[in-house]
Amino acid sequence: MLTTPTLPPIRWFLFHNGALLLTADNALPLAAAPPVPLAEGQTQQPLPVLDGIPCAAGQMEGPLPPDTALHLVPLRQAFDLLTAADFRMAGKAQELLHWDAHTHHCGVCGAPMQRATDISKVCTACGREVWPSPTTAVIVLIERPSPNGRREDDEVLLVQSHNFRGDYYGLVAGFVETGETLEDAARREILEETGLHVHRLRYFASQPWPFPSVLMVGFFAQYAEGEMRLQTSELRKGGWFKRSALPAIPGTVSLARRMIDAWQEG
Ligand SMILES: [Zn+2]
Repeated sequence: MLTTPTLPPIRWFLFHNGALLLTADNALPLAAAPPVPLAEGQTQQPLPVLDGIPCAAGQMEGPLPPDTALHLVPLRQAFDLLTAADFRMAGKAQELLHWDAHTHHCGVCGAPMQRATDISKVCTACGREVWPSPTTAVIVLIERPSPNGRREDDEVLLVQSHNFRGDYYGLVAGFVETGETLEDAARREILEETGLHVHRLRYFASQPWPFPSVLMVGFFAQYAEGEMRLQTSELRKGGWFKRSALPAIPGTVSLARRMIDAWQEG
């Protein structure tokens, strides 16, 4: 007797307007085929295998029908619902879909691009190859040890950018420019945004930030000299805060929060 071969289930990372599709119990859908139709002309984007399960990404055709138990969660909020590995994969999925949507045509000759590998495309006319390339940004925690030597009086420089969505304070950050090292970029951004000079710049950690496609590189630095002069075109407010009296800070999804927590813990 002939039996239809069963296809192995795939863990689906499907998006609509930047929101991720989850099941009723806030898990990623697991099925042989996409649980909702994909956007016209969209094929599923292969992702690496996670915990032995193949994964795929895709853009949904449109909003969810009202009669489904599936629901959409903004990617940032999904951080609180998913495992760290699933959230990381969701970010990768979002970055690949963004790259796919922005590389339909060759940037040199304008001809259609064709998929070459899972993470590259080649121009059908001139042969130019493109890969997803996240933009690099630096983020810096500037500390100022207390002159009285008391740990609770140590200070951190926190700022509020005009593009923060809420009344909280974060860290100085900015994009790396051409020809710069990460350290150059960190010192330049600090000087431009705050008027301050720093020393003892040291690497902390990095984090992919899929909004839409950034690699954040975190540094700690110590205040050296200069008077604070905030760049008002970029920053709404900012200042020095004692370890014992921090204002509202970013959510746990961000590298900024990990850095502030690490500083708090010494
Ligand atoms: Zn071309």
